[in-house]
Amino acid sequence: MLTRFAPSPTGHLHIGNVRTALICWMYTRSQNGKFLLRFDDTDLQRSDIKYIDSIVQDLRWICIDWDANFKQSERFKRYNEAFLQLTTKGYIYACYETREELDIKRKLQLKQGLPPVYDRSALLLTEQEKILYEQEGRKPHFRFKLDKNKIVKWNDEIKGEINIAISSISDPVVKRECGIYTYMLPSVIDDVDFNITHVIRGEDHVTNTAVQIQMIQALEAKIPVFAHLPLLHFDDSKISKRKGGLDIKFIKENEIEPMALASYLTKLGTSDPIKAYANIQSLIDSFDIKKFGSASARLSLSEIYKLNSKVLQQMPFEVVKERLSQTGVNFPEFWYFIRNNIEKFSEVAEWWQICKSNIEPAILDKEFIKIALDVLPQGDCNENTLSEWMKAIQQIVDIKTKDLFMQLRLALTGIKTGPELAKLLIFIGKENIIARLKNY
Ligand code: GLU
Repeated sequence: MLTRFAPSPTGHLHIGNVRTALICWMYTRSQNGKFLLRFDDTDLQRSDIKYIDSIVQDLRWICIDWDANFKQSERFKRYNEAFLQLTTKGYIYACYETREELDIKRKLQLKQGLPPVYDRSALLLTEQEKILYEQEGRKPHFRFKLDKNKIVKWNDEIKGEINIAISSISDPVVKRECGIYTYMLPSVIDDVDFNITHVIRGEDHVTNTAVQIQMIQALEAKIPVFAHLPLLHFDDSKISKRKGGLDIKFIKENEIEPMALASYLTKLGTSDPIKAYANIQSLIDSFDIKKFGSASARLSLSEIYKLNSKVLQQMPFEVVKERLSQTGVNFPEFWYFIRNNIEKFSEVAEWWQICKSNIEPAILDKEFIKIALDVLPQGDCNENTLSEWMKAIQQIVDIKTKDLFMQLRLALTGIKTGPELAKLLIFIGKENIIARLKNY
């Protein structure tokens, strides 16, 4: 098995691209296959090296690796050669319509209730007419001549049997006036030259697949297996309205762990339950392309956040050791305690601050604080300190357990919610407890 992921470096990776990349990569690794990373940068004007760098970084971030990578811009010579070969065989023809002329044609067809399919009038041009156009200063663009009589069929690994009537598709433009190849042909040439066995990509490419199958046939090559992933919809209208959609930058800024995102994106829309997987290998081991349904999937950001907490809860100290040491936490006990109470990793540092640095004092009854200080149990704090302390206070003050608990939480942390107070006391430490109470 040999697959490829082929992003266009014209922007940052979007969550939909990452999902395609992950699923393609996982499928490949689950079959011990090889995985190529190809940059579709034939449009040199819109492509940018900074996007190549950011795509590489984002893929690595989510644990994807590749056996080789290349840029289409390195292969223009090969595309020209194949282009010439297909032109000689009569598969490619020159067209001289301007964008405006094509637009008028399209509008007219729609007005007449006809499908806006290119009418092939360029095929009727005489050599003389073409020369006249060129003398006028027009440059040709080129289309691939589809076999309109065919119905292209394939057995999609996700969507099942697909039949596409080519008569409803326009001959695709493969090269523009300015000489730029569009995505269509170079992609096919690469897939053929590199012997790609499986093409896994989004459902938005289904029509392209029908076209590309005819191109592969024109090149007399073997047709790969296709799998088209259903599209993602966003649950939250705020996300779908976000300019540029949901990119990985946003995911990283919101501290979603790569394993949370990978678990979510590779299980969403499958027959497996969505849960937090501890590592990429366990996701690969449970991967089966047949588990994907063909209905579009709904992406929920709040579910990703929930999964993030679960991923954190499973993380062993060894995995986070380095990140923890940057926040000043060097021992496992605090991690194993706090990981059950956080949604994002940065909250570790916040709780460490609360334990070890100054807190925002709450407004509390001074008399109560004095009593609390007086009856604070002797010795270092342990897991029983809080209950003993509360009992001692209740012998003096008439206060409900729930209220007392809240008073102490406020006095010691400055906030109403948080991890189990009995355990938190151990990390705050006796000295700090006394200092904080004396402060009131
Ligand atoms: N560059 C294309 C895209 O990003 C690749 C599609 C394909 O996988 O062939 O949509």
